[in-house]
Amino acid sequence: MKGAVLYGPKDIRFEHRDDPKIIQPTDAILRLAATCVCGSDLWPYRGLQPIDGPTHMGHEYCGIVEEVGSAVKSIKPGQFAVGSFATSDNTCPHCQSDYQSACVHREFMLRAQAPFLRVPNADGTLVPTPGGTPSPDLVPSLLACSDVFGTGWFAADAANVKPVGTVVVVGDDAVGLLGVLSAKQMGTGRIIAMSRHEKRQKLAREFGATDIVAERGDEAVARVKDMTKGIGADSVLECVGTQESMMQAIKSTRPGGHIGYVGVPHGVELDGQQLFFDLVHLHGGPAPVRRFLPKLIDLVLNGAINPGKVFDLVLPLDKVAEGYRAMDERRAIKTLLRTS
Ligand SMILES: [Zn+2]
Repeated sequence: MKGAVLYGPKDIRFEHRDDPKIIQPTDAILRLAATCVCGSDLWPYRGLQPIDGPTHMGHEYCGIVEEVGSAVKSIKPGQFAVGSFATSDNTCPHCQSDYQSACVHREFMLRAQAPFLRVPNADGTLVPTPGGTPSPDLVPSLLACSDVFGTGWFAADAANVKPVGTVVVVGDDAVGLLGVLSAKQMGTGRIIAMSRHEKRQKLAREFGATDIVAERGDEAVARVKDMTKGIGADSVLECVGTQESMMQAIKSTRPGGHIGYVGVPHGVELDGQQLFFDLVHLHGGPAPVRRFLPKLIDLVLNGAINPGKVFDLVLPLDKVAEGYRAMDERRAIKTLLRTS
């Protein structure tokens, strides 16, 4: 088979590699229905995160189970399943406390920008869709559950989004936009999305944003303060991971408010004394997507929501390089890669 391999900055290639096979008895092999490019793939693509030689890219996936190892009990060949970007046994103490992304057997997935994928810890990682193979038009939304939607949901959950309160979302990439959708699903009234990009503003509104703030930095904070009678927001979702976005999130939050941060931090440094006086709750990290998967899959299958709308570019897998370029140049929000 052929898959996506990153060689260095802006150098992604579609090239031959061995078909995945069962290595551990707890593995499964999936034939992917589709895969995609993640905002976090852009950090190494841009050379802002070092790679250790040629790297097989991709960590978002869903598809048909082709084969399972001898120790796999609940997952069966022929099932359609969605898994998280972080594998989990779903039995260890961290999994039991719903933090599957800290599982003692965790592996961060790679190699998913390919037609076939080996998934370790299959029983604890994969969630089969109830009712068999879903209709093809649901595949983008199910694929979104694997990372971006699950991560946006975790941001809203960590930010303690409640039916009453003001939510601010920092970041208008796919995760931020799906953070808006998640906050809306949690029933909140006012959602302020920070974006200066017309197409993304429009999708944010479609997903439930009531207000748009196009300013950045201190100006953005001042706008939020204006909109909340000088108090600040109750819940803030930080979905970027830069110093500016993190400070924007913290300063937009009211004393006692909550910040869910899911943008992988790059060069973020917080001042302990300032944080002390800010009096905010700060919680984030790699999202325990497995915790939310059954609920998110249900929401998608019920037709209640369409998180797959973040895919505004669909390409065949062999055009993966163009998929990265389009996202890097912000021509596309998120690229879906067709595997067949
Ligand atoms: Zn575990």
